[in-house]
Amino acid sequence: MAQGLLLIDGEACIGCGACVDVCPFGALELVAGVAVVNANCTACTACLSVCPVEALSLPERRRRGVPLDDYRGVWVWVEQFGGHAHPISWEMMGQGRRLADDLGVELTACVLGHGVAPVAHEAIAYGADRVLLADHPTLAAYRTEPYARILVDLVHRERPEVFLLGASSRGRDLAGSVATALYTGLTADCTGLEIDRETRGLLQTRPAYGGNIMATIITPDHRPQMATVRHRVFEVPAADPQHRGTIVPVTVEPSAADLATEILEFIHGDEQVNLADARVIVSGGAGLAGSDGFAPLRELAALLGGAVGASRAAVDAGWIPYAHQVGQTGRTVRPDLYIACGISGAIQHRAGMSTARVIVAINTDPHAPIFDIAHYGIVGDCLQVVPMLTAQLRRMAQQRGSGA
Ligand SMILES: Cc1cc2nc3c(=O)[nH]c(=O)nc-3n(C[C@H](O)[C@H](O)[C@H](O)COP(=O)(O)OP(=O)(O)OC[C@H]3O[C@@H](n4cnc5c(N)ncnc54)[C@H](O)[C@@H]3O)c2cc1C
Repeated sequence: MAQGLLLIDGEACIGCGACVDVCPFGALELVAGVAVVNANCTACTACLSVCPVEALSLPERRRRGVPLDDYRGVWVWVEQFGGHAHPISWEMMGQGRRLADDLGVELTACVLGHGVAPVAHEAIAYGADRVLLADHPTLAAYRTEPYARILVDLVHRERPEVFLLGASSRGRDLAGSVATALYTGLTADCTGLEIDRETRGLLQTRPAYGGNIMATIITPDHRPQMATVRHRVFEVPAADPQHRGTIVPVTVEPSAADLATEILEFIHGDEQVNLADARVIVSGGAGLAGSDGFAPLRELAALLGGAVGASRAAVDAGWIPYAHQVGQTGRTVRPDLYIACGISGAIQHRAGMSTARVIVAINTDPHAPIFDIAHYGIVGDCLQVVPMLTAQLRRMAQQRGSGA
């Protein structure tokens, strides 16, 4: 497999070892004074630029056929379900608009589906200069093959330099398929996107090494530069119905290979857990000391019209299902109010909730890291404090109801 990823001209190689030293995957070694590639190779291309005699190259199919400068424009995939756009698409449009303005290029929205012209118009209101609209009965429900093929064909034809997708279940699936087919890089779950004005490169920032550092990733040699971002990491921009843009219909000719799968039925998941849209979240962690500890949190959340969240420690302990988990490997949330009960505030938890408008932390340890980001902190036992809060809020609601 590695031989297919990297070509080594044994005649040209001088055995200097520069490629061996620079390879981050230990994929190169010197055998009898000549570089040899092993199965660890990922075709990352780190070795190509250090070889003084140009003995290393990628096979033709992996090489860029088109100069990077020929790629222009920022694209966003607009995800929709049953003709309703997923809000993550508009969050992406907000970022796409900003990046396109920084680069001085058009922002293009890609809308795929059936009967989705209204979504295309919405995309213009959210900032698109242009919408590529593929409207066909076979695209009514999301399927990887036809969606990916259409987008890959469009990228080959139009050559955008940046392509953004929401990190929803479908977005993750589609982004990986499209990036693989295009032999380009993809950075998943970005929390920051900026333009390097010197190189026009996309600086894609995301947590790395278990969330302990923030890494900024670039795609120097391939286009488009592809990134996904999770729901609620960025705000939805205000829609402007006056904004003008053009809709370009895309002809769709589905092939039998594209339609290898058939949608038989949609089974909806647990709709009780809608953390992403909740304005108030009452979240519990290991400090609750058991599944019973969530009962007062549920009561408080119900009173505030909110949802119940959890740390991974509580989920791993089996006290509450994974659908409630907030954090790097759970949901990213941006409620108006986040009440963290018995949660220490590990970086991986904060990665999913630190952009909440108001954070209230209840913890017995006054030095718990959650207090570093909390707007209001209560040092105390959450099993006592939460019922007191609920009782007090109930009293206040009753007084307001009786006009007192
Ligand atoms: C790759 C990776 C991904 C991860 N992803 C996530 C993720 O998505 N989400 C997530 O949450 N974590 C995640 N983690 C785990 C994370 O590192 C922490 O282990 C976890 O967040 C700790 O959960 P906790 O705060 O509930 O528990 P602890 O860290 O054990 O904290 C419990 C807190 O409760 C307090 N406490 C104890 N008793 C009480 C009481 N009666 N009243 C009030 N306070 C009390 C304690 O002082 C302590 O601060 C991830 C870790 C890794 C390595």
